[in-house]
Amino acid sequence: MIRVQDLRKSFGTLTVIDGLNFEVKKGEKLALIGPSGSGKTTILRILMTLETISGGRIEVAGEPLYHMQKNGAEVPANEAHLHKMRRHIGMVFQHFNLFPHKTVLQNITLAPMLTKGESRANADKRAGELLEMVGLSDKAGHMPSQLSGGQKQRVAIARALALNPEIMLFDEVTSALDPELVEEVLIVMKRLASETDMTMLLVTHEMSFASDFADRVLFFDKGKIVESGPPEQIFKNPQEERTRTFLRKII
Ligand code: ATP
Repeated sequence: MIRVQDLRKSFGTLTVIDGLNFEVKKGEKLALIGPSGSGKTTILRILMTLETISGGRIEVAGEPLYHMQKNGAEVPANEAHLHKMRRHIGMVFQHFNLFPHKTVLQNITLAPMLTKGESRANADKRAGELLEMVGLSDKAGHMPSQLSGGQKQRVAIARALALNPEIMLFDEVTSALDPELVEEVLIVMKRLASETDMTMLLVTHEMSFASDFADRVLFFDKGKIVESGPPEQIFKNPQEERTRTFLRKII
């Protein structure tokens, strides 16, 4: 579903992603863990086409995400191509990013109506189903400012799902929440992971959640994958000293 080859990304002179290679199979649930600044969020933003890349190649569903071959040369993908590729992917951000002046329902229906030309009736119906799934059917008419952080994040998840993406990216979705609100978001995400065949990539600092959620964990440091394996390996029997040192510090 996703193939990343020799990906490189620098911000000015700072190299953040340094020759990254990995693949994600359709339906796989992947957790990205690692120290602060190791490039985890940047990878998700690159997959969401919110950043340019400095080198390498990414394929999503068999098509290049950023670069297209033209007369043998690699050139940046044009807007129309990016627009098409973005349809495969939904993202949920740490700080929710809801539209503050739209109701919960409008937050969810806006993109399907604008980008897919869905009728209001269809978009409302789907939004109703999604709100039920995230346990917020009674909040459809509320404004985001009337919701708790956990509720806002569940609306953000419903909004990303409204475009029926095949791939969902979750960027530290619980780290801006008060501890007592984390659980309600994790429950929704676990249900999504177990009940759908969506491909999911999760960046998190919650190791127990990464362990429950993921089929495979990638441990990053300094823009490179240090170790990759099932949660039992990474959390109980890490093979690399750097993984052990990291986990000792945070667990
Ligand atoms: P954290 O766990 O703290 O969120 P992370 O592993 O997700 O960290 P990134 O957010 O991907 O790390 O950032 C990797 C590095 O890239 C950091 O040093 C960060 O300061 C830098 N960086 C990220 N975005 C930009 C930007 N737009 N301009 C300059 N530097 C950036």
